[in-house]
Amino acid sequence: MGGLATAARIKSSLPSTTEVLILEKNGREQLGGRCGSFNVTVGNGTFRHERGPSLLLLKEEYERLFEDCGKRPPTTKNDNVHDANSSRSSSSKTAAEAYGLQMKQCIPAYQVVFDDGDTISVGFPRSKCSQGLSIEDIKQIQILEQESIMKLNKLEPSGFDKWTEYLNTCAAFLDCGLPNFIEERLDVSTLPAFMVEALKDGAKRWPLQPHSTMLDSLFDSPKLKAMASFQDLYVGLEPYKNDQQLGGGVLRKTAPAVFGLLAALELHPTNEKAGVFAPVGGFRQVAESMYQLCLDNAVKIKFDTSVTRITDDGVHFVSKGENEDDEGRGFLPADLIICNADIPFATETILSSASSLSNDGDKYDWNDKFDYSSGVIAFHWSFSQPLEALNTHNVFMSAKDSKAAVSSWSVLRDADTEGDTRSAKTPLKGQPFNFYVHRASYTDETAAPPGCDSIMVLVPCRGLVREPDLGLLPRDEAISKYKQQFDVDLINDVREAVIERLSVLEGFEFLHDNLLDEVIDTPGTYADYYNVGGGVPFGLSHGLGQLSLTRPGAEPKTHGNVLFVGASSRPGNGVPLVLIGAKLVAQKAIKKLQRI
Ligand SMILES: Cc1cc2nc3c(=O)[nH]c(=O)nc-3n(C[C@H](O)[C@H](O)[C@H](O)COP(=O)(O)OP(=O)(O)OC[C@H]3O[C@@H](n4cnc5c(N)ncnc54)[C@H](O)[C@@H]3O)c2cc1C
Repeated sequence: MGGLATAARIKSSLPSTTEVLILEKNGREQLGGRCGSFNVTVGNGTFRHERGPSLLLLKEEYERLFEDCGKRPPTTKNDNVHDANSSRSSSSKTAAEAYGLQMKQCIPAYQVVFDDGDTISVGFPRSKCSQGLSIEDIKQIQILEQESIMKLNKLEPSGFDKWTEYLNTCAAFLDCGLPNFIEERLDVSTLPAFMVEALKDGAKRWPLQPHSTMLDSLFDSPKLKAMASFQDLYVGLEPYKNDQQLGGGVLRKTAPAVFGLLAALELHPTNEKAGVFAPVGGFRQVAESMYQLCLDNAVKIKFDTSVTRITDDGVHFVSKGENEDDEGRGFLPADLIICNADIPFATETILSSASSLSNDGDKYDWNDKFDYSSGVIAFHWSFSQPLEALNTHNVFMSAKDSKAAVSSWSVLRDADTEGDTRSAKTPLKGQPFNFYVHRASYTDETAAPPGCDSIMVLVPCRGLVREPDLGLLPRDEAISKYKQQFDVDLINDVREAVIERLSVLEGFEFLHDNLLDEVIDTPGTYADYYNVGGGVPFGLSHGLGQLSLTRPGAEPKTHGNVLFVGASSRPGNGVPLVLIGAKLVAQKAIKKLQRI
């Protein structure tokens, strides 16, 4: 994402004589890096699965890229017919839609499923009329919303009012945090509301305290606290205060309360930035639309080509090539190099000055001095039954009491423990743990054949444990050894634990019998496919020690002619943040290139 977006921005802003070339280690079918989908064919049926993202947030960041760089007119003369999937006629296509990217809001945003079988839906936008929904759909959503309010009030007295109050505080954090700390653009107009919320009730909502401290002052129910903070996982942090660490852990593994802004981003009913969307056709379509944007701007892309070394003068590469004649190594001189490979990997291998890592081929290693977000074990399951009890986005949480809720995050808390954190070595079944399930067919029926379903289950786990000697081996050998850190017994245990938890839902009694196909990704897979440090899909964590100015920036100290873009650099992980980072990096690149 970072590479495609930066390339499109640079090429669309400079004279046509400027050449921009992307070198991508994977083939065309894996376009988009972590952001993409793949198909599984069983008999005559095709099942679509996401390899990475499934939640499309900050929709306007996607729109903005196409508005800024698109060559295709957002409206077309010949297309003046009503599009069945959209509330607008296609004569009013947005710039993103002109490139085939249609984003559909998921209402409700999430279903939360607790381990005792309690379920609750959250994320109902106040305005439902503009989403292109039928009257029937709207009525159904209104019923769900009423149910949700009743359930919130059942969890604790005035639960709905407290929930609303919490989201309003988080919305003030979002309105101030997004421009000032994420987009790096000063917006003082948002500061008063931010300060009012931060200082309310004797500063009980102070944004830099542990997230759980703020939640304790607002809610009594462990379930409400869990629901209000599960998004901390996306930034690689746990919500609960860690008394063993300075500041309750906010410098490293515990989310500061300001990360409640993620809850507002997904769930606030009226904030204009809020909402969870799904790209029609899956996240593959996001990558395809960005690829077309690049081609329209005459960006060139060479697939199957790994960069093995970056210098200030250019890059060494090794190419698999489309045919044998193309295979081989080479050096490409460049006026400026933008590195989208994950920073902890890139700095340890392709930018490292260590003599053992010469330009003689692909290596895999990473800098393990950083703090990382959690790893993930992903099950991509294709079923011969529809899984109607699931929404598009579902979080399964353990929160029957406060102890279980805290313990369900131990995979993040214990990540530094040498070798054997709980979900890496000891059985998961019966233990508290949280996981996420994506069912694309709920919003986009093209994801699975009729009467069938495809789901992606993401279970947080430990990242890879670094073995420095493996960095000296050829890449394939090192990766194969790293993959062994997640063995069959461990995977079987996690699978059983997930199936047990899914069984609290109606109609899920025979999941085993109806499972047609399974694809599993572990941290070893993400390391293999994308060269991410430690195999962790969400990159560096976002504790205060690795946030904003303390997170690696675009300009490495070691190389004057290289810029970094991507999830482990500023502002951070997730497609929209990578797109914001790409915009800032493109501005720096354009300035540098104009000076040449
Ligand atoms: C399971 C999972 C779930 C996720 N869920 C969400 C979500 O719901 N919403 C969301 O917004 N984000 C989500 N993310 C995060 C999101 O995918 C990433 O933040 C984003 O895609 C990162 O983009 P990037 O450009 O930084 O990195 P990448 O996508 O990793 O791109 C880097 C590219 O560089 C290539 N490369 C690496 N090394 C070399 C080399 N030596 N030579 C040539 N090419 C090289 C890689 O192959 C890759 O294509 C998820 C990720 C995963 C894996």
